[in-house]
Amino acid sequence: MSVVIDENAGFCFGVVKAIAAAEEQLGLSRSLYCLGDIVHNNEEVRRLSNLGLVVIDHQQMEALPGATVLIRAHGEPPSTYAAAQRLGVKLIDATCPIVLALQKKIREGYEAMRSVDGQVVIFGKKGHAEVIGLNGQTHNSAIIVSTPDDIASIDFRRPIRLYSQTTQSKEEYNRLIDNIRNAVANEGTSDFVAYNTICSRVSNRATQLESFARSVDRLVFVSGANSSNGHYLYEYCLKVQPQTRMIASPEALDFEWLKGVHRIGITGATSTPRWLMEEIRQSIISVCEN
Ligand code: SF4
Repeated sequence: MSVVIDENAGFCFGVVKAIAAAEEQLGLSRSLYCLGDIVHNNEEVRRLSNLGLVVIDHQQMEALPGATVLIRAHGEPPSTYAAAQRLGVKLIDATCPIVLALQKKIREGYEAMRSVDGQVVIFGKKGHAEVIGLNGQTHNSAIIVSTPDDIASIDFRRPIRLYSQTTQSKEEYNRLIDNIRNAVANEGTSDFVAYNTICSRVSNRATQLESFARSVDRLVFVSGANSSNGHYLYEYCLKVQPQTRMIASPEALDFEWLKGVHRIGITGATSTPRWLMEEIRQSIISVCEN
């Protein structure tokens, strides 16, 4: 029996950068607040909480004037920066550079659309922190499309600029672009531009995952239940390797399902720490090899 960890699995550089910023600050003061979970992985959140990182929401920040608060890789809307300034909160801004560039692009698109009565459309998960930050660039006026039905909110006679949350599925985004293209061809504007704003770390990951998933007999996909990237990649793995299961921690391992298997693979989302996959590997070896 062999148990292998996907060499391409682990945190993306945006998350690595945010965690490094948190660890550096905690090394200096042991007092740091973070707006929301630094990463959608409870195990890693617990590890950092043991080092002193305290997760807060926007309301709690109001009661912490003068505190030091980390902005995670997902980014924040302009209103958060304004609130921090008003409260004298020191921000450590660990927004991923790719998300920052997308925020800027949307801001510019919003300005351009304002002058021609156009619309900014964002393909993303409603209520997701990154989407809230992106929508904030348009004074919360963007149309958020999460499901195919949501395109009914778009006025196809008016100009449209379309962007995607960085961690969305490329296939679904392409389908959405086709649907909007068909709708504008039938009833409206010739001024429709769709930008490719899915993070290459996410879109390339799917192809890398495919060959890894095919190379094993059972695939353990490690991800927090609240990671949208995790759900997308898990569904992707299931299509090429039906013997795939998603778990969040070693306690959820089903050893009966793994016993007697020739080659077991372990992989995860861009928010899954490598140390957790290593722990899971050790658990499988210690139980299944005896
Ligand atoms: S998935 Fe891409 S955009 Fe999102 S935090 Fe990671 S590197 Fe940045």
